[in-house]
Amino acid sequence: MQVALDDYVWAAGVATDLVNTAPEVWHGEDKLPDLASLVAFAELHSIPVITRPSDLRAVHRLRVAVRDLIDQPIHDRLINGATALTSTAAQVTLLAGAGNARWAVSLKPTATTSDALSLVCGIGILGVVRTLGTERFHACGAPTCQGAFIDTTRPGRRRYCMPGLCGNRVNVANHRARRAAHQPRTKSV
Ligand SMILES: [Zn+2]
Repeated sequence: MQVALDDYVWAAGVATDLVNTAPEVWHGEDKLPDLASLVAFAELHSIPVITRPSDLRAVHRLRVAVRDLIDQPIHDRLINGATALTSTAAQVTLLAGAGNARWAVSLKPTATTSDALSLVCGIGILGVVRTLGTERFHACGAPTCQGAFIDTTRPGRRRYCMPGLCGNRVNVANHRARRAAHQPRTKSV
């Protein structure tokens, strides 16, 4: 597998999706409880699937490490932490394409799924720090959500870890609150 260095938006999206599989985001339910779920997650994100039994624990450790970086987005900490995640890379190369070739890093031949995810998360974080800055690492803005995300939108005003889910919940809660505020008060019996 090769990860293009300018694919940081995709890579940071994978990192965000990975941290939001954690049990703390789902009221104790781990969304990556076994190797089958890890394989499904990898396939969904076009990550090569070469799993060993130890991969699940490695990915759980990676998930904690990435979350820790998002939660404390201090420049040097992000650089050092993300650099450590890229230790599964083997070589820097050029991806041939139409027009300009792109810088890319390739995985070691013995790399497994967790190694690939580690490299992708490292590239994603480094790319965002370089291109967008350290202010793009956030906890979810929904009051009841424990998720976190890396904001790669152009304006940088993303608020929720899973916009379709957490954003909708907040909209529904706001709508209910507004409706309740506008309704005439009735006497409770
Ligand atoms: Zn959320």
